[in-house]
Amino acid sequence: MIEDKNPQRTSISQLGEFGLIDHLTQQFEMAQPSTLKGIGDDAAVLDFKDKKVVVSTDLLVEGVHFDLAYMPLKHLGYKSVVVNVSDICAMNAKPTQITVSIAVSNRFPLEALEELFAGIALAAKEYGVDVIGGDTTSSQKGLLISITALGEADADELVYRNGAKANDLIVVTGDIGAAYMGLQVLEREKQVFQVNPNSQPDLDAYTYLIERQLKPEARKDVRTMLHALEIKPTGMIDISDGLSSEVIHLCKQSNTGCNIFEDKLPLDPQLIATCEEFNIDATTVAINGGEDYELLFTIGMDDFDKIKGNPNFTVIGHMTDPAEGIHLVTRAHTKIALKARGWNALNKE
Ligand SMILES: [Mg+2]
Repeated sequence: MIEDKNPQRTSISQLGEFGLIDHLTQQFEMAQPSTLKGIGDDAAVLDFKDKKVVVSTDLLVEGVHFDLAYMPLKHLGYKSVVVNVSDICAMNAKPTQITVSIAVSNRFPLEALEELFAGIALAAKEYGVDVIGGDTTSSQKGLLISITALGEADADELVYRNGAKANDLIVVTGDIGAAYMGLQVLEREKQVFQVNPNSQPDLDAYTYLIERQLKPEARKDVRTMLHALEIKPTGMIDISDGLSSEVIHLCKQSNTGCNIFEDKLPLDPQLIATCEEFNIDATTVAINGGEDYELLFTIGMDDFDKIKGNPNFTVIGHMTDPAEGIHLVTRAHTKIALKARGWNALNKE
């Protein structure tokens, strides 16, 4: 599938650890006022003045979280940043800095790491985060990437998972399920390629789905939009493991139940068409598929008029008393208990 016929291969051992770090990090510029000292000393120095600081970290392992057979390294670098920035956005905070640590086996030449870091640099620029440090080490096998993201917010801006109340509306940004179906398309093409390495995949019908899988974006725009609309969500989480599992997190931590309505789920037409082709139920994909990196949040009913008709936001249900349980209400008006399966669990079926 993704193959460079004449790759240049410079062994990373030629540069040594510090040479390698210098080489990979020289492209990072410091732009955040809170970054006093970035890469180059024993530690970075940050000054957030009177802001609160949010911190989130994530570890990605080759063969578990990504497959280099169809994930180009530049996209992997970009996505690694995005998944962390998304968690900062889910706190209603502004992402400001990241650290990047990698463990890499000697099967990766310098050129591969350059690609990875080009993706990291692109995402750092897109999201306005400074790369302020990290570590590089060798691994016996495969590639591991760990990113820590920091962000800032005023104390009263922060939104936690535990603030939702019964009758609050449940809102999702963008559309959901596409990243999971993108993965199914890529897995299918990988199998075709293994049987016939000369096959040329025609992926035109799936461009949106594949982009959602390979180049997701974090919703850093939502904070600004909600601020302009004078809405502060009562609870918020990002959709990394799938709608169902994130809704359950919100309900458990807020001590509520909820009703999610099947006919309200925002699905892209390409997702619906591809689910038909694969003979998979689109609702199942929308609620259990993960990696959409959209935001799921709750608002008081009084705020409904402020988002009504806004194409960025879809009201998919409402919170209830905890005794009512956590349910999906189908098009046929039957209630099904939601289970936290997440996309990994779905994958094994
Ligand atoms: Mg999260």
